[in-house]
Amino acid sequence: MRLEKVDALEHESISLDKGLTSKDAHKRLEKYGYNELEAKKKISAIKILIAQFNDFMTWILLGATLISGFMGEKADAVTILIIILINAILGFVQEFKTEKSLEALQSLASPTANVIRDGKIQAINAREVVPGDILIVEAGDRIAADSVLIEGFGVQSDESILTGESVPVEKFVHKGNSNIGNKNSLFMGCTVISGRGKVKVIATGMSTEMGKIADMLGEIETKQTPLQEKLDHLGKVLVVGCLVVCAAVTITGIIRGEDVYRMFLVGVSLAVAAIPEGLPAIVTVSLALGVQRMMKKKALVRKLQAVETLGCTKVICSDKTGTLTQNKMTIKKIYTIDNYYEVSGSGYDISGNITKNDSRVNLLSDLTLKRTLECGVVCNNASISEPKRGGVPSYVGDPTEISFVILGEKAFGNRNLVKNQFRRIKENPFDSDRKMMSVLCEENGNKRMFSKGATERVLSRCTYALVNGEVVKINSTFREKVIEASNKMAEEALRVLALAYKDADSIVEDNLIFLGLAGMIDPPREEVKDAILECRLAGITPVMITGDHKLTAQAIADKLGMIEKDSMVITGEELDRMSDAKLDSVINKIRVFARVSPSHKYRIVKAFKRKDQVVAMTGDGVNDAPAIKEADIGIAMGIQGTDVTKEASSMILLDDNFTTIVEAVKEGRVIYDNIRKFLRYLLACNIGEVLTMFIASLMSLPIPLLPIQILLVNLATDGLPAMALSLEKGEKDVMMRKARNKNEGIFANGLWSKIVLRGALIGVSTVVAFAVTLVYADGNLKMARTVALCTLVMSQLFHVFECKSERNSVFKVGLFTNVYLILAVISSFALLMLIVYTPWMQSIFHTQGLGILNWGVVLLLSGAISLISSLFWYKK
Ligand code: ATP
Repeated sequence: MRLEKVDALEHESISLDKGLTSKDAHKRLEKYGYNELEAKKKISAIKILIAQFNDFMTWILLGATLISGFMGEKADAVTILIIILINAILGFVQEFKTEKSLEALQSLASPTANVIRDGKIQAINAREVVPGDILIVEAGDRIAADSVLIEGFGVQSDESILTGESVPVEKFVHKGNSNIGNKNSLFMGCTVISGRGKVKVIATGMSTEMGKIADMLGEIETKQTPLQEKLDHLGKVLVVGCLVVCAAVTITGIIRGEDVYRMFLVGVSLAVAAIPEGLPAIVTVSLALGVQRMMKKKALVRKLQAVETLGCTKVICSDKTGTLTQNKMTIKKIYTIDNYYEVSGSGYDISGNITKNDSRVNLLSDLTLKRTLECGVVCNNASISEPKRGGVPSYVGDPTEISFVILGEKAFGNRNLVKNQFRRIKENPFDSDRKMMSVLCEENGNKRMFSKGATERVLSRCTYALVNGEVVKINSTFREKVIEASNKMAEEALRVLALAYKDADSIVEDNLIFLGLAGMIDPPREEVKDAILECRLAGITPVMITGDHKLTAQAIADKLGMIEKDSMVITGEELDRMSDAKLDSVINKIRVFARVSPSHKYRIVKAFKRKDQVVAMTGDGVNDAPAIKEADIGIAMGIQGTDVTKEASSMILLDDNFTTIVEAVKEGRVIYDNIRKFLRYLLACNIGEVLTMFIASLMSLPIPLLPIQILLVNLATDGLPAMALSLEKGEKDVMMRKARNKNEGIFANGLWSKIVLRGALIGVSTVVAFAVTLVYADGNLKMARTVALCTLVMSQLFHVFECKSERNSVFKVGLFTNVYLILAVISSFALLMLIVYTPWMQSIFHTQGLGILNWGVVLLLSGAISLISSLFWYKK
């Protein structure tokens, strides 16, 4: 088949190689608008604000305001109204921030497109694609806009999203209309399953087929996470519980002869204060803030649920190339039959030589080497962009292929010499199942096929070899010799590719003539070794899954510290021979899976899951999507990854780096810890408030806190410090404990008993403070209530520091590690001082200034328990 090209650009003369100019593209963008489907109506700020008032608790409070108004208690009514407003504003700010951050994530997750503009290939945001743009599409890409194929090899597209038909549609270059079903058209939102090609965009945004029917794919999923659901449920249980207790307090008060109106307000305020109605919101905010923090560390979370699961991760299955290693390939060794060559130079620097026994080789007298090098350059899709004056050239493409281009530079000096000599006619592209690729080219009227790929794959298709410039038939001894040379390089952690060719009119990958081997280094990422150690301490097992050779993979895993004494390294072939039962019995020992195909990844995830492991799995290729979907945490590569994998994933690594996964796991643990921290604080405080009122009513004491005071405690002391706890940075030992069990409840490991005990102590201390003051102040209720209010608030402010850690005392963790907490505590304390000491606040909140003796009682009762527990509780 010849390279298919048609003049699909007849109406518009846009060069296939140069594309639009940026200026023209800009003009078109203004004319046609962004290439996006109309976004779902965003929730407006007003709507969020109104929603704040449409809430059960607010309705109760509004009812109370009305009743206060009718009873002539204007001050009460106004104060409650102000409290409702402040509450609504706080809720609004929280929710608005969450909406905005989720929106921001949305735009970051948006796909990119490879466009040719000003003669250069550039990756741009898909929304900036305009009609007339020339795009490069390849397997795994989600097509950015409706377009026609202009040049391409074996392009197949999955159009199920438009047609419901799951069989891939093969695309050809031909003239015709771009209706669905037409064989030259590709449609926005569909995926390229195989092949490569250039397309010209003919419609964008709402003018596309997709725009006509559907709303956008690939949105960040924000549905409730299991934790949010559980807490929602808990909230409902607590509402019922609180209402019962509040009703009991109100009724006993009325029976005892308290004013009915006042007791009604007490009941309402207590219900409002005690019911943790804001709980789900704080959880969402802390998950969303966590997502933002992770983003700063280059982990883009696409599903909120992943944040929770990340903290339970027990196994991280990671690709090798580019994730554990730098993906900067440099060919260091070449082998042709009986000849070993060394290549000098490093990275993508083109200075370097090929030497044999320390002397430079002469390509004119070494035909086998020359053809081996030609094969590497021609059977190659990497391209070099010419350097700007004084600059260095930049390379676009797969680093494995770039390394052959660099080698060509070192050998031939002129980058275009070889490539221009051979005109490509057809390509059988690389894919990670076949692990090889071939091209058919023409040189001076002669057709020749070049192949390169994994040693055993290429060698098994060879029946001849080029030895000292002559084609000879090969036998098994010969094959063993090649395998031995390949293994020797692999043991040195080199990635080895074999090269072969034959003279042929079509691409049939058999009867090839073996040329040689090239061994390239791909150094491990510097920082990964520490990250692996961190995983080990955190009880997480890192597992390498790679398409590379067993020996290469093992050597790199060893360098990175992934291999232990009884660790196993197995290949895809060995895996195929294992039954599920056998695999299950050894899976926890396997640290490296080598020469695997994407389909193996799915089986590996399943096996780990059968062993109750929570698995994170990385992937980049189009075929990795099923495994990524199946994993508890599917991770796509941001740089190397295809759109399909990204959409299947729950997290995208913006820098493709293994260390980022570990950082994200750490962040996941911190967020979960923080949720437990503020739950502990919030619930203990609420229990303290309810018990204060309940115990006092049981003891037939007057009501210790007035409704307005209760509302104030709820607003000022619970809210801000609880929010601040969700911003705790994480404890030092967060990665030194075992991963938490996925099914573990949020209150596991004694959290409930801590909450109830501490809540009870807060309640008892407040009532004691109240009762003691009543006695020594000769029944001065105002003073006793002020002391009770201060004791309750101060107990909470002390307790918030205890909540900084479940395992260590605050003195070990550090009092001042969270500025937000300090600020929250200072502002709550300042508010309390204003209420106690400024006359106009005193009149609203029915308080009076306290003396030293009063403060002695307050501090003793509120601080002692915190101090004692911090000093002695944690001592082992
Ligand atoms: P990982 O899964 O760790 O990213 P990988 O990148 O080594 O592994 P693949 O890209 O699937 O995995 O490559 C598998 C094998 O295919 C390589 O070991 C190599 O022998 C061969 N190979 C890789 N890239 C090319 C290429 N561009 N052309 C020909 N063969 C290749």
